[in-house]
Amino acid sequence: MSREEAPHPGLPAVVIGGGIAGLAAARVLARHFTRVVVLERDQQVEMASPEEAFDGWERPGVPQFRHSHAFLARVRLLLLAHFPDVLDRLREVGMREIGLAEAAPRGLGVAPRADDEDIVLLACRRATFEWVLRASVVARPAIELHEGLSVAGLIGTVVDGDRPTVTGVRLEDGRSVEAALVVDTTGRRSRAPQWLAALRAPPPRERSAPCGIFYYTRFYRERRGRVPGGRPALVAGDLGWVKVAIFPGDAGSFSITVGTPVGDPHLKALIDPARFERFLGAFPTVAPWLAGRAAEPIAGPHTPVLVMGQLQNRLRRFVDREGPLANGFFAIGDAAYHSNPIYGRGVTSSLVQAALLDEALDRHPGDLRAAARHLDRASEAELRPFWDAAVAGDRRSAGGRRPFQLTNPRAYLAAMAAEVFGWFFDRALLPASRIDPIVFRGLMRVFNMLEPPDHLLRDPELVLHALPALARTLRGDGPAPAFAPVPRAVALARLGADDEAMQAERFGG
Ligand SMILES: Cc1cc2nc3c(=O)[nH]c(=O)nc-3n(C[C@H](O)[C@H](O)[C@H](O)COP(=O)(O)OP(=O)(O)OC[C@H]3O[C@@H](n4cnc5c(N)ncnc54)[C@H](O)[C@@H]3O)c2cc1C
Repeated sequence: MSREEAPHPGLPAVVIGGGIAGLAAARVLARHFTRVVVLERDQQVEMASPEEAFDGWERPGVPQFRHSHAFLARVRLLLLAHFPDVLDRLREVGMREIGLAEAAPRGLGVAPRADDEDIVLLACRRATFEWVLRASVVARPAIELHEGLSVAGLIGTVVDGDRPTVTGVRLEDGRSVEAALVVDTTGRRSRAPQWLAALRAPPPRERSAPCGIFYYTRFYRERRGRVPGGRPALVAGDLGWVKVAIFPGDAGSFSITVGTPVGDPHLKALIDPARFERFLGAFPTVAPWLAGRAAEPIAGPHTPVLVMGQLQNRLRRFVDREGPLANGFFAIGDAAYHSNPIYGRGVTSSLVQAALLDEALDRHPGDLRAAARHLDRASEAELRPFWDAAVAGDRRSAGGRRPFQLTNPRAYLAAMAAEVFGWFFDRALLPASRIDPIVFRGLMRVFNMLEPPDHLLRDPELVLHALPALARTLRGDGPAPAFAPVPRAVALARLGADDEAMQAERFGG
């Protein structure tokens, strides 16, 4: 086989970026290559525990490192199938597992079903998850993790004006690393299009849409070793004007995230920790988590509220009808698919793609073109429906709708279907999930990426069970929301009133 067609036996597989997708990619590549090299820009100092990792691991390359992360049930299944050692170690260091019954609304008796054992969320800080995954990589002699090395571009060969073959990477410091194949896992800020353009590869097909959300997060620790209600469930409420969620973590930690519309300037005051807490005091579902001595900010009173904006839904495909844009180049994780973090799908998507990369290399040994095609097709089948649903959900949240294109029947039908789905979801499925265990289970299976979103309309049992709630919603006496609603004016008034109190405190008035 020629160099352009097959992985070179002596060369390593190179992974750019050592975040969750990069570390997972390295683990699966080690099954196919005798050497795997991971190049990570951020420097790491050895950390002895999850607490040290949370306190001291500097991750400028991952701005969301200390934001809330939900680890969906699909993550647990992927770990069980591909990295069981990681799951075991997470359990040892205090990760909690939340089953269906624990996650169910109070009073909703969910009679156990055999496949419920799949629906188990992992409660864990992202720092802990990455620390454990990283340790599992460091322990493997076939994988070399180089930290503090930044990749500046790709190296490749072009024969007769054909598409390039990637043969390695160029580092910022001028050195280069030869590779049998290169996997980009540099996340949301991936520069793959520029790197490929420099090799004269065609541009990737790209879709993007704004998430329309600002993310405010603060971390806490339970003081009494238990949470309000005694159940460490994920608590989430979408009140239209704001989204609020509590994420249980490992070792008694939890975080609260407030998602605000980007166009709401009043809520920018949430960056101030005192205001953040006073604001949350307006929400009866959240207040008990912070009341009295129930919890304390994880790093003391100076624990910051972290903010993240400019969030996009974006997907990039590096394969077209002719095949890969550049032979030997792959991209997985956020570099390929990312969506609004409020849906909590990034880690799952990264692990799904790592597993698909493994499958692609297994099915097409020695044929990187076929492997790239396989990864692209399988990723679209697995992840695209969730990506489309995220974009549609964000559009609904922003009060917009997909434009109806009367001249294009397919686009017209797709827009209609999105409209119908949103209507039925908000008025029937969501309210029904609070009173009907079958609908609750169905929604949890989709939320946890165990079933695709259209399962909610395709499963006749779910649709039938949602109809009574729909009738009630249309009559105006729909089931009470699990997250007690709070009018915007009430929460804002607290911010405003407290503004005056703060001024008085500050200036001794
Ligand atoms: C605010 C926020 C909240 C989120 N919440 C959730 C959640 O609840 N659940 C969930 O599943 N997902 C969540 N995500 C998504 C999740 O964080 C990512 O999907 C996941 O970390 C996988 O990302 P990745 O490894 O592809 O990229 P990243 O985690 O971004 O890692 C990229 C790595 O590449 C390195 N790098 C970048 N450029 C270079 C270079 N040139 N050379 C060398 N190294 C480089 C970076 O330093 C970094 O280490 C959230 C994301 C955001 C933004």
